[in-house]
Amino acid sequence: MAKVVPRPQLSFWESIYFVEIFKGLATTLGHAKKNLLSPDNFPTLNYPEEAPRLPQDYRARHRLMKRPDGTPRCVACFMCSTSCPARCINIVAEESPDRHIEKRPVRFEIDLLLCVFCGYCVEACPCDAIRMDTRLGVMSGDNRRDFVIDKAKLMDWDPKDYPLTDVQSQKAPGGSLHQQALEEFRSGTYH
Ligand code: SF4
Ligand code: SF4
Repeated sequence: MAKVVPRPQLSFWESIYFVEIFKGLATTLGHAKKNLLSPDNFPTLNYPEEAPRLPQDYRARHRLMKRPDGTPRCVACFMCSTSCPARCINIVAEESPDRHIEKRPVRFEIDLLLCVFCGYCVEACPCDAIRMDTRLGVMSGDNRRDFVIDKAKLMDWDPKDYPLTDVQSQKAPGGSLHQQALEEFRSGTYH
């Protein structure tokens, strides 16, 4: 059933509009005065010199997670590329020499010009091998090839740029939990 929205009852001063127009102008000028007198509080950035600080859960450029020995956690299962609506993930798999890991990616590329940053690849991955938490949301380049990121670029990240509570990142080489994780990995109790 349709909902009847009642018309607001305007007072005399509201119905002649002029008072409301000047009240609106006063609000605008008040904000302008506040910003001009204290420019440090401007809610703007000197972009591109100053990059925006994006939140960790912002869906930004991808990265491939690493095992304690520095190899990719990816097992080349193709679930990310299968679920990708833009068909922009290109994986070439090969047999892994580690008997615990059936396959590994010899090539892993993402075409960021096709990517719609939906995050389906991250959701589909069964082993937390791909993430979009790099906070690299602003990308630029002067040719299309720059936007096809390969395995080396996807794995070029430092655990120090991620919080200590991010256990998986801290187990990678250079992370705070790396030493213990590497021992577990070598003993075969961690994969
Ligand atoms: S974010 Fe979406 S479009 Fe981009 S690679 Fe992942 S699944 Fe494909
Ligand atoms: S879903 Fe995960 S493990 Fe499978 S190919 Fe993609 S990144 Fe690798």
